[in-house]
Amino acid sequence: MLQKYRLNVDRSDGFLVWIETEYDSKGNIRVCDHCKELLGKIREMDKGRSRVWGAIFGHLELKSLYGELYSCGVDTLYEVHDRSLSTFHPEAYADNLAQIIIRTEPAVVLFGATPRGRELAPRVAARLETGLTADCTELSLDDRILSMTRPAFGGNVMATIQSTAFPQMATVRPGVFPIPEPFREGKGTVIYWQSTCRNLKDIINSEVKETAGRDISCAKILISLGAGIKKESIEVAESVARKLGGSVSCSRKLVEKGWFDQSHQVGQSGRSVAPDIYLAFGISGAIQHLAGISSAKKVIAVNKDPEARIAEVADQVIVGDANAILRELDASL
Ligand SMILES: Cc1cc2nc3c(=O)[nH]c(=O)nc-3n(C[C@H](O)[C@H](O)[C@H](O)COP(=O)(O)OP(=O)(O)OC[C@H]3O[C@@H](n4cnc5c(N)ncnc54)[C@H](O)[C@@H]3O)c2cc1C
Repeated sequence: MLQKYRLNVDRSDGFLVWIETEYDSKGNIRVCDHCKELLGKIREMDKGRSRVWGAIFGHLELKSLYGELYSCGVDTLYEVHDRSLSTFHPEAYADNLAQIIIRTEPAVVLFGATPRGRELAPRVAARLETGLTADCTELSLDDRILSMTRPAFGGNVMATIQSTAFPQMATVRPGVFPIPEPFREGKGTVIYWQSTCRNLKDIINSEVKETAGRDISCAKILISLGAGIKKESIEVAESVARKLGGSVSCSRKLVEKGWFDQSHQVGQSGRSVAPDIYLAFGISGAIQHLAGISSAKKVIAVNKDPEARIAEVADQVIVGDANAILRELDASL
């Protein structure tokens, strides 16, 4: 049965971010980039006026992360300190987070719209009897009121939503805001929160699925391929990406053809990316695709059709055969 809580709406102020962690290729724990993006966005919206809490789960190894979190804007870090919570337990995490939110009374609670964030946030919202806007791509703040923007109706409109209940909660897509530079010395307060949750279920088996290639959300140069390219051009694009130190991504059409797995898809139902240069080969620029590249610094489109929709957002358009241009680019590098 859901526990019922009530926040004092008049007193609610400040922000709480669920700090998600992951392990890098060397086995070291790190803060997921989207948490730093959220902290940077809070600072941009609120100019450092209100208190910022982080909530992180795990055990001893988390100490190495404190400094980085403080320097990105966390004032007080709640560490839910229990060895059993080092692995993700949505029910137990939600129980503890709801209790921390009741204690801190933030006006806004943010999660990354990651697979784990999408499992956790609705559970916390249900416990607090508040609203949740999922999969936001933009946030803005007026006094304590948060406007949350997200694609709706298949991405054909952008809906801006305000919650009538506090705390105002949102999951936000990774990659939509820039990662901020640390702006202050890494000092703050940590509060160890002893989990009292008895809701833990046994994990019988868990499997980490390897995805081929680098994470496209981190790439500085992205060669992105659409329905205008031939299958043999994938190898050429991978060679170009290797030479430029970038990665290869694609439109949904190529995932549907089975040429790429979904982790490579850019767009509304794929990943949001924020590369310095996004090179789109044979991609028309459907709104659902463009939803994923709004943070790209420079977009170069290669398309045989000068009227393709992507030309409207591209900084540069090269009109020609994408397959031939990829081959030429590869040969010239
Ligand atoms: C709910 C929903 C969610 C969606 N989510 C996503 C998403 O996350 N990501 C996504 O990408 N799509 C998504 N889509 C699909 C989207 O609407 C488009 O169908 C898709 O993006 C089109 O992919 P494309 O540009 O590769 O193919 P097309 O639209 O078929 O465009 C191919 C382009 O290649 C050009 N071309 C053809 N041959 C050549 C050549 N030889 N040289 C150069 N150019 C050439 C054509 O002029 C054309 O512009 C979604 C759709 C829905 C309904």
